Amino acid sequence: KYPCQICMGTRVMSLDSCYRCVECELYFHFECLKIPASVVKKSCHIHPLVCKRFLAENDSLEYCDICETLVHAKHHAYSCEICDFLAHIECILREEAPSPLYLKELYSSHEYITIPTVGEDCQTDKLENKLLVNGIEHIHVMTAVQMNEFENVQCCDICDETIHGIPYECEICDFAAHDYCAEMGKLSKDRLHLNHPLTLLPKPPTQVTMHCEICRKDVQGFNLFCRLCDFIIDISCALKD
Ligand SMILES: [Zn+2]
Ligand SMILES: [Zn+2]
Ligand SMILES: [Zn+2]
Ligand SMILES: [Zn+2]
Ligand SMILES: [Zn+2]
Ligand SMILES: [Zn+2]
Ligand SMILES: [Zn+2]
Repeated sequence: KYPCQICMGTRVMSLDSCYRCVECELYFHFECLKIPASVVKKSCHIHPLVCKRFLAENDSLEYCDICETLVHAKHHAYSCEICDFLAHIECILREEAPSPLYLKELYSSHEYITIPTVGEDCQTDKLENKLLVNGIEHIHVMTAVQMNEFENVQCCDICDETIHGIPYECEICDFAAHDYCAEMGKLSKDRLHLNHPLTLLPKPPTQVTMHCEICRKDVQGFNLFCRLCDFIIDISCALKD
């Protein structure tokens, strides 16, 4: 039995009501943490957010709109009552500058990733040809380079290997990648982790050193991550056969 580090009581701590500090292995009652019931944090989201237990509808997986990783069903999370924004408590209350991934929101209001409705067929093509890759500065909006613009051999910014074919390039910066590397930006299930979809992240999601589940080396750059299990593999291991 672990006492709550705030009230020091051992009042029943169920998995749903207890919070554990991952760095120091200390336990807390959720109520004792005094998480604000509502917050307005414009740098994360334009609307006010309320803290509620997140109940997933019909088992669909939901992702944090800030860090892009899974939000556990039945855990508390901040959600918006105006739109469908959802984020981890720690992602909203974090003191550091918010992850640039919040820019996803800006992109998601942009035409090319709006869901095409009948009569908008012309937008479907644009949608299909672009891939989004999480980056440090912004989310790279990747499109295949046109044959006539294709000049020199480049290095993939995701896996660091040479690109021999037609690269995908970001529309905003000079980030370039293999088509198959950029494809990993779509949430995907990997043969190495079949239970949950993995998110392509530009660096490990925590400050704490994380080791690749395959080669055990420290993960430094791009990686595939599962928040549910803290499963992480570096990109070179993900690409190996
Ligand atoms: Zn307590
Ligand atoms: Zn998050
Ligand atoms: Zn909202
Ligand atoms: Zn970019
Ligand atoms: Zn690559
Ligand atoms: Zn590895
Ligand atoms: Zn998992």
